[in-house]
Amino acid sequence: MILDFSLSQLVQKIQTSELDPTALVNLVYDRIEKFDQELNVYRSLVPREISIKRAQQIGKKISNGESVGQLAGLPVAIKDNISIEDPNLTTGCSSKILDGYHSPYDATVVKSLKEQDALVIGTTNMDEFAMGSSNENSSYGPTLNPWDSSRVPGGSSGGAAVAVATGMAVAALGSDTGGSVRQPASFCGITGFKPTYGALSRYGLVAYGSSLDQVGCLTRTAEDSAYLFDAIQGVDTKDSTSLAQRLDSYDGQIDLRSLKFCLPNEYLDSETASGDVLEATISLADWLGKQGATVEKKSLGFLDCLIPAYYVISFAEASSNLGRFDGIRYGVRRSSGSLDELYKKSRDSGFGIEVKRRIMLGTFVLSAGYYESYYGKANQIRTFIEKKIHALLAEFDFLIGPVSPGVPFEFGEKNDNPLAMYLEDIYSVLANFTRCPAISMPAGMSKEKLPIGFQLMSKPLDDHRLLKVCAEIQAKTDFHIPRPPLCFS
Ligand code: GLN
Repeated sequence: MILDFSLSQLVQKIQTSELDPTALVNLVYDRIEKFDQELNVYRSLVPREISIKRAQQIGKKISNGESVGQLAGLPVAIKDNISIEDPNLTTGCSSKILDGYHSPYDATVVKSLKEQDALVIGTTNMDEFAMGSSNENSSYGPTLNPWDSSRVPGGSSGGAAVAVATGMAVAALGSDTGGSVRQPASFCGITGFKPTYGALSRYGLVAYGSSLDQVGCLTRTAEDSAYLFDAIQGVDTKDSTSLAQRLDSYDGQIDLRSLKFCLPNEYLDSETASGDVLEATISLADWLGKQGATVEKKSLGFLDCLIPAYYVISFAEASSNLGRFDGIRYGVRRSSGSLDELYKKSRDSGFGIEVKRRIMLGTFVLSAGYYESYYGKANQIRTFIEKKIHALLAEFDFLIGPVSPGVPFEFGEKNDNPLAMYLEDIYSVLANFTRCPAISMPAGMSKEKLPIGFQLMSKPLDDHRLLKVCAEIQAKTDFHIPRPPLCFS
């Protein structure tokens, strides 16, 4: 099957005219026609004829002997919070407040995709403003999990993950503030990579928690993530937090025998994670040991502080970042009488309940009198954890563990209990807190035949080593092979 080829193989076939890029586009659009209505993946889509025309232009360049980009002809999906200038596409953050909003410019990562001749075919559903772990917070209804449509696809990049898992795109870009690339990747049986903070430009990514936000890759394999990442990574003067240097490109293999992995004791607590998840984690850790790697257990000593501190910081940053959605500059405007009324009515009717909760709590923790005891304290905790992790990652090459405590849960299961939903992020926010790269990869199936993920994290700037280890595991195992039967029978 064409979709079984890696991204680099697809591009190579297109470049050598072995594969007509319009055939690939048609294949992906056929799948969208078949599955999108039920699964609710795309928020906006470039019409098929236009994507075909764009693919024909690439085909023409190739037959004329002109050079084409590294992503030539690949149909790629973009999360609905990454700005894209295209009259067919909206950048709506799956929020009513941005209903019908078209960005007047491309995010740097989108610009790079286009420069590399990728075909950006659509924007994908997400939790409103990237706040959530299940896609249930989208203003336009949730995306369904293709492994079991009564279950959530994870979030907030749920639509992007399902697009890749079902072949409605060959790769996607998402955003990860506390796990939103890795957790949905894990729930959908694909690979999700969050690079070092600053390695991919945030210019044009609608901000949620700016000190934590990072654009990430959703692909079937680590090799594909590396390929996509390298095509778009680099210094961006428009993003003041961009790294000072482009990372070296991905090359070659890695010998697992020379590596030291740390599996935190707290990650094995059966009160936090389900039996299936723990079993898969331990068995992959044991497998690494059998390959000759060193795997050691060690206590972190701070796991219980992580989620409270993450939510204080991310809410505080969100409350400030979302101030710009006031009914004047963007999207929905509800006006009656005074300017004050206009702000209140526009925000009240435009934002969903979770976004409002976060804006209120974020405003509270930043308010005079409470700032030091909440926001100040949370930042102290962050600094403390960051130091500890950087010391740990001087001793070990990688930290390993689960991606989330359980497998994809049922719709509505955690809706009445925000705290249970927030605990979804217990293993993932560490990478955002410490600016480290982290990846989630499939690690087997639960008893109910639902995907389970495994996570690896390394020190900042070690992105390619991380990708190589994951690629090496995938070369020797087949956890990443199965596809959701619902869409591949
Ligand atoms: N689930 C987390 C949250 O709701 C992570 C979100 C994200 O990474 N964008 O904040």
